[in-house]
Amino acid sequence: MRTFKPEAIQTPRGHFIGGRLVPQADALTVHRPSDGRAHAGLPAADAATVDAAVQDAHAAWRRSDWARRAPRERARVLRRWADLVEADVAQLAPLEAVCSTRPLREAIAWDVPFTAEGLRFFAEYCDKLGGEVAATRQDHLGLVVTEPYGVVGAITPWNFPLVMASWKVGAALAAGNAVVLKPSELTPYSVMRLAELAVEAGVPPGIFNIVHGDGATTGEAITRHPLISKMTFTGSTGTGAAIMASCALHGPKPATLELGGKSPQLVFNDAPDLDKLASIIAGAITGNAGQVCVAGSRLIVQRGIADELAERITERFKAHRPGATWDDTATLSPIISVRQAQRIHEIVQAAREAGAQLRCGGGLYEDGPGGAFYRPTLLESVDATNPAVVQEIFGPVLTLQTFNDEEEGLALAAHERYGLAAGVHTADIGRALRAMRGIAAGTVWINRYGRTSDFVIPTGGFHQSGIGKDLGRQAVEANLRHKSVLIDFGAA
Ligand code: ADP
Repeated sequence: MRTFKPEAIQTPRGHFIGGRLVPQADALTVHRPSDGRAHAGLPAADAATVDAAVQDAHAAWRRSDWARRAPRERARVLRRWADLVEADVAQLAPLEAVCSTRPLREAIAWDVPFTAEGLRFFAEYCDKLGGEVAATRQDHLGLVVTEPYGVVGAITPWNFPLVMASWKVGAALAAGNAVVLKPSELTPYSVMRLAELAVEAGVPPGIFNIVHGDGATTGEAITRHPLISKMTFTGSTGTGAAIMASCALHGPKPATLELGGKSPQLVFNDAPDLDKLASIIAGAITGNAGQVCVAGSRLIVQRGIADELAERITERFKAHRPGATWDDTATLSPIISVRQAQRIHEIVQAAREAGAQLRCGGGLYEDGPGGAFYRPTLLESVDATNPAVVQEIFGPVLTLQTFNDEEEGLALAAHERYGLAAGVHTADIGRALRAMRGIAAGTVWINRYGRTSDFVIPTGGFHQSGIGKDLGRQAVEANLRHKSVLIDFGAA
């Protein structure tokens, strides 16, 4: 039985600076979303503590040979780190699950191995991204040399604490940078173990640091620190804009931003296997209770199969069993906080007032284990201006719109703000590829939905869904800057 006693999970207390735990008195309380109880405290770094951490990271980056050593040596350390992460699943998975929305079962089967494999992927790039020799006149040699930035600031969200951290830290470290990471104050513990394992694997102390605290104080202090040369962030569009503004004012410094989404699932009436499709579409909005930036939240179906498909999705929605992340029989995660559950419900209510019809769901489960569990919800009869179609909900709420022809379907798939991901489902290859070209989104999945362990495929958004990419070669490149060199070796 994959379970644990939540009270028994000891959480590391303090920041992680200079390769060790740096204790500080608690200033915040971290709750367990599964049962709503307070689990443990958390310190909050003020500007002075952030300054000390960044100074330390910068000194370690200059002092250690992390950026200068043979790239394959850096790769070896990252691979060792990945092995340690994988071997540590018994400790990491409960630490991940206890205060987050990640079920223990999935943390064991997916989050921890996916984190480890992501680190291995980035390790492979250590010696693969050299610079260029430029086409110059014969007695000149022009070089474009790549170098790390120095200290990269990373700020991550609460929905996939380990995986998000591994994407940010793995790419930055592979490129030879040091990192100061601020995890979400809602899910701060598992990354502490990740950092300990990094040091055990041979990442020099001070190269990967963690400071805890809220966004307005700790996060802001990271973005504006003069020794942070580059920022990477995943979270909401509003916070991304604030971070970009801070990077502009206190640099300027580049920022990679992976932000919100309102991703369409465009289904044509020739889509094969409605049962499989219903499972894909239901899974893409109920996985992690819809608290996924790439959640497929707008179902757009060609008339003819809409009712049939909606029925099969509804069956799957109703079959869910909510439960704590340590309950092995549960199939639906809690909402991260009561506040967030209220926000979901407010949007659903506003959607109904604007004319949406409820096919199923529409409220909290009444008898959950203490936390807030929202019923998977399907809203029909919505138009493009309905609040549930316009706003990112970050919960298990799917809207259904119908269309007659390809042109109308593509028009509905477009969103005025977001362009993170899209699903296209059809048996017609030409139609699939026209939709791929026609939809402005950073990722288009055809006849599937969701990422695989093909880490080489980058992820990131268009429009207000972000700037730059996580994963892929592009993520490592974003952690390197280019230095131009011109050598004159003409006769003296
Ligand atoms: P959510 O609303 O989903 O919690 P946010 O985008 O607000 O997501 O938060 C994602 C991360 O950004 C968290 O680690 C949070 O503490 C941090 N954060 C929030 N506000 C700021 C800010 N103004 N500057 C820097 N980081 C911030």
